[in-house]
Amino acid sequence: ARASNLPYLTDLNPEQRAAVETLDGPVLVLAGAGTGKTRVLTTRIAHILNMGRAHPSQILAVTFTNKAAREMKERVGMMVGAVAEGMPWMGTFHSIGVKILRRHAEMVGLKSDFTILDTDDQIRVLKQLVEAEGLDDKRWPARVLAMLIDGWKNRGLTPEQVPAGEAASFGNGKGKKLYTAYQERLKTLNAADFGDLLLECIRLFRQNPDVLKQYQQRFRFILVDEYQDTNVAQYLWLRLLSQNVPSTSPQAAAQPSPLAGEGGSPEQSEGEPDEGFELADTFDMPASTDPSPAFAADAAQAPSPARGEESAQAALPSASQTHQKNICCVGDDDQSIYGWRGAEVDNILRFDHDFPGAKVVRLERNYRSTGHILAAASALIAHNEGRLGKTLRTEDELGEKVQVTGAWDSEEEARAIGEEIEQMQREARDRGEDHPLDEVAILVRASFQMREFEDRFIQLGMPYRVIGGPRFYERAEIRDALAYLRVVAQPADDLAFERIVNTPKRGLGDAALQMLHDYARKNKVPLTEAARALSATDEMKPKPRTALRTLMESFGRWAKQKETLPHNELAEIILDESGYTEMWQKDRSADAAGRLENLKELVRSMEEFENLQGFLEHISLVMDRDSADNEQAVSIMTLHSAKGLEFDTVFLPGWEEGLFPHQRSLDDQGRAGLEEERRLAHVGITRARKRAKIYFAANRRIHGLWSSNVPSRFLDELPEEHVEVKEAAGGTGGFGMSGYGPSRFDEMGSFGSTYSTPGWQRAQQRRGKGGFSDSGAPRYVPDGVFDQDSDAYADDDAASS
Ligand code: ATP
Ligand code: MG
Repeated sequence: ARASNLPYLTDLNPEQRAAVETLDGPVLVLAGAGTGKTRVLTTRIAHILNMGRAHPSQILAVTFTNKAAREMKERVGMMVGAVAEGMPWMGTFHSIGVKILRRHAEMVGLKSDFTILDTDDQIRVLKQLVEAEGLDDKRWPARVLAMLIDGWKNRGLTPEQVPAGEAASFGNGKGKKLYTAYQERLKTLNAADFGDLLLECIRLFRQNPDVLKQYQQRFRFILVDEYQDTNVAQYLWLRLLSQNVPSTSPQAAAQPSPLAGEGGSPEQSEGEPDEGFELADTFDMPASTDPSPAFAADAAQAPSPARGEESAQAALPSASQTHQKNICCVGDDDQSIYGWRGAEVDNILRFDHDFPGAKVVRLERNYRSTGHILAAASALIAHNEGRLGKTLRTEDELGEKVQVTGAWDSEEEARAIGEEIEQMQREARDRGEDHPLDEVAILVRASFQMREFEDRFIQLGMPYRVIGGPRFYERAEIRDALAYLRVVAQPADDLAFERIVNTPKRGLGDAALQMLHDYARKNKVPLTEAARALSATDEMKPKPRTALRTLMESFGRWAKQKETLPHNELAEIILDESGYTEMWQKDRSADAAGRLENLKELVRSMEEFENLQGFLEHISLVMDRDSADNEQAVSIMTLHSAKGLEFDTVFLPGWEEGLFPHQRSLDDQGRAGLEEERRLAHVGITRARKRAKIYFAANRRIHGLWSSNVPSRFLDELPEEHVEVKEAAGGTGGFGMSGYGPSRFDEMGSFGSTYSTPGWQRAQQRRGKGGFSDSGAPRYVPDGVFDQDSDAYADDDAASS
């Protein structure tokens, strides 16, 4: 009764309330976008604390990104106010996994200060192992092995558990051996990769039931957001933690768990040792045997008031009354978008089975989007076959229709979106309102699409931030390429020279580099000059000397060509002749294609500048732009990293066959791939509160080649009554809304502009040579432009930082 008028509860609808107030036993909230699932989780945490059902440290909340965890902490803080006794464990699977693993590192053969390897390190280690096995690393690239191993780890498979047939596919049957060797090598290096953060945790729990039990007893309440995107390893990990705790005595339960004394600040970083827990670790007697000396010490060291009020403790239930684990998962099968990374939407469908007696709550009212937006998104997702199906309704007004705009090309697309944002700001200002840029997002399918927007916004002086990944010009391959250009433009740029002197590998080892540095310092000359001087003497060993001489000759040649050639052509020559492009071409990894694509995009972006100097100046301005976090800014991110977020206005560019749905997904996974793409489109539209604006470009240059595009099939799946069709400002022609073939959007965007570039002519020629609308196949296959890996691992993996 006391609870019924708590302010945070009265804000909820009856179903949401049920999900919040059902604190005992398993609860699944299965509901569509914007129905308040995350809000339910947050409120539930506040409620648990408010009702004195657990101490903060007895709550484990798993979010999909660190950003989401931060937001949740803030909101809980606002609702609960003065809970000074620390915060629940909130974070991603990875960040919580690493926290646990550090405390018991010795038990899995690591030291507590183990390092977390990033992908590059991982590949370097694997490469050595591949070579040590006598395998040709061109035929059996380390990156492919890395992907295989990640896949196994996502599925919770240790080397022994990998199916023999599967492992045999790599390295003439040596896959398993290599995986085993890799794990051993990591132990010697005192390192773990991302997959290990969970896999080793699972192993730890399985091999040490007492450790597992500590955590099972500790976490009285487990909450999981975005449950539809958990993979097998995450699922296993959750299952272990959520098993029923053996009954303990009432006294023990009424006391804070022995592990509860940490009271760490919410900002506590992953790496920091957690004093309270170290203490607790020495305590290996089950809580049921009453206050142990260790427990007493714990209590003495961290006395109240930080511990919360007496009343709260008195209200704690005895664990013996709790028959089932209090786990609450929320998710939406229609938003499962990580299947390609091993997520199993089945986890959500199986919940009932895994947690018998689970209360399943369905929420149908969407509080986020206005009517047209929600209707369009619902109609789109209805085209998927593999779904549970659910109703979504809003009591909001119909609002604006989903706007679909055809642009001539991607440049016009960026220009039009920039103008629309400015327009919205002007209109708001005229009404005497504020149109905060924080409420505007641009959600792209592939990260290469970002470059055009970044450049446009810089020109406009419009603040933006790229979320979940580096900005275009900060990507490693772009920095490398820029370093070459900088050395050509300013031979004294030591930092740039250092960056590329041995990239790609030219056999210039540490010794040679040290020599360069020594010479440069002694003679007070730039490194390039030192290189030129040293390559002419025999102080250096012949091999590095030759390599250095060749490189310096190239730089000499490029410097001359700079005077005669257009700078973008020069850039292409440099990247080719230096072997840099080749380095990525030979690299058969998943993200190599994306990097090559980014390089092409870089060269293409240079066209817009008069000369190399102008271009480089532009870049330094871009790089310098401080991305002050408190500044209002447009967010640019991939659709994948937009999950769970919401904005007043959402721009969705690039809705073209081949790009979205993207070709690789269709090629690799067929119908399942298409359905995942469609869910991604659904996620995109449902991010919008008031305005969803979809764009497609009739022409897009990919790999430096023009291709003409067919509008995405998803556009046809949006019911006409919820859509408003526009043409970008630059266009003058009409629309082919009907009678232009199977797609009512087919001819849009292909009219009117006055462009007559060779690219356009090529595009013209290609148009009509069949395409999705008449042959069932997209017109172009932009292989490898979709660097999913970089976007997906974005926020999620910030555990390493
Ligand atoms: P997604 O599937 O996209 O993650 P979700 O189901 O997690 O969405 P939330 O983000 O929790 O949805 O909620 C969507 C929006 O609706 C938020 O702005 C939230 O504050 C608001 N909201 C949720 N429930 C209510 C309610 N009962 N009354 C008013 N606003 C609500
Ligand atoms: Mg959510």
